[in-house]
Amino acid sequence: MDLFEKCTTYTTAREMEARGLYPYFQPLEDTEGTEVILRGKRVLMIGSNNYLGLTTDPRVRQAAIDAIHRYGTSCTGSRFLNGTLALHQELEAHLADFVGKEAALVFSTGFQVNLGVISCLVQKGDVVIADKDDHASIVDGCMLARGEMRRFSHNNMEHLERVLSRINPAAGKLVVVDGVYSMGGDLAPLPDIIPLCKQYGARLMVDDAHSIGVMGKGRGTSAHYGVTDDVDLIMGTFSKSFASLGGFIAGDRDAIHYIQHHARSLIFSASIPASNVAAVMTAIDIIENEPDRVDRLWAVTERMRSGLQEMGFNTGPSVTPVIPIIIGGIEDTFTAWKMCMEMGLYTNPVIEPAVPPNECLLRTSYMATHTDEQIDRALSILGDVGRSLNLIS
Ligand code: PMP
Repeated sequence: MDLFEKCTTYTTAREMEARGLYPYFQPLEDTEGTEVILRGKRVLMIGSNNYLGLTTDPRVRQAAIDAIHRYGTSCTGSRFLNGTLALHQELEAHLADFVGKEAALVFSTGFQVNLGVISCLVQKGDVVIADKDDHASIVDGCMLARGEMRRFSHNNMEHLERVLSRINPAAGKLVVVDGVYSMGGDLAPLPDIIPLCKQYGARLMVDDAHSIGVMGKGRGTSAHYGVTDDVDLIMGTFSKSFASLGGFIAGDRDAIHYIQHHARSLIFSASIPASNVAAVMTAIDIIENEPDRVDRLWAVTERMRSGLQEMGFNTGPSVTPVIPIIIGGIEDTFTAWKMCMEMGLYTNPVIEPAVPPNECLLRTSYMATHTDEQIDRALSILGDVGRSLNLIS
């Protein structure tokens, strides 16, 4: 049997492409943040994770350019060896302070944080307990770990308790949740999860990829709930509000020190270049000094959410700037995506396995830099699409 047979017989994507319904890997020719150029056409972007609009902020751009002039374009090595700049360590101190933890460690992507942290902490005899809606990088980190993995139904505290109560009390335990769920836009109920972790002696790790810059005045879900001291590990990415690329883990000094010397995705991968570090440092300064940005993100979000709900769209459990528009089947979802695109609106269609079957959705997400006119235009296009597909009346 030829190993590549699966490649030659894989036709699903090509069939969709032939019908003009293939929505992935769409090449952007230019991006100004809230508007992008796709195949020569200007479209309104409601599908980015650029929550604070900082990727095009002149100060963030300039900091990245200055860093290239000073340090060059790459570190050409791992943090462990030649790839640590004083700038990385400066950023780590700043991040720890920003999220309210003793120490932080910078990885090359958020995905690598979850892979490296979970797999190095959860060893043979330990158990990692993950929410069913946790991000793929958490699931992969759990699969890479030598310890066992258990799942609990999304945000279901009774199920979490049942799972915890059945684990050998002597086993080391790590509960991992997303702070903001990337598809549903709902929050992990940390104030309910923390007492369960304490009762059963489990450590808690929160993936704040979509919460940094958004929740808790930008400091994440732990700050939002006022429970930072009760969350053992806070994970974040630089690829969303922080307008860069990379990721971090923050926690107690000993935990971070251990991870620093055992996480293989840190040790065996090159560090982020100075330009990425400088962009994050400038983004943090802006978040700290211009709290109005986060307020504006929420004003845009609530204008959009109430507009969608007034028209009768199903926005699921979302309470954040990630607002899904739940459509149902794949065909309708791709058709809605295509109609939006033709009318000048960029959204992200999400199908199984990222969401349960028949709960396919258009994932929309908002930015502090969206104008009221842009939000009204997005609502008007979505209204036309929703009515023509009978999603709303
Ligand atoms: N966790 C969550 C919840 C995410 O949404 C993402 C990115 N989509 C990641 C982790 C991975 O982050 P990165 O893009 O920095 O690899």
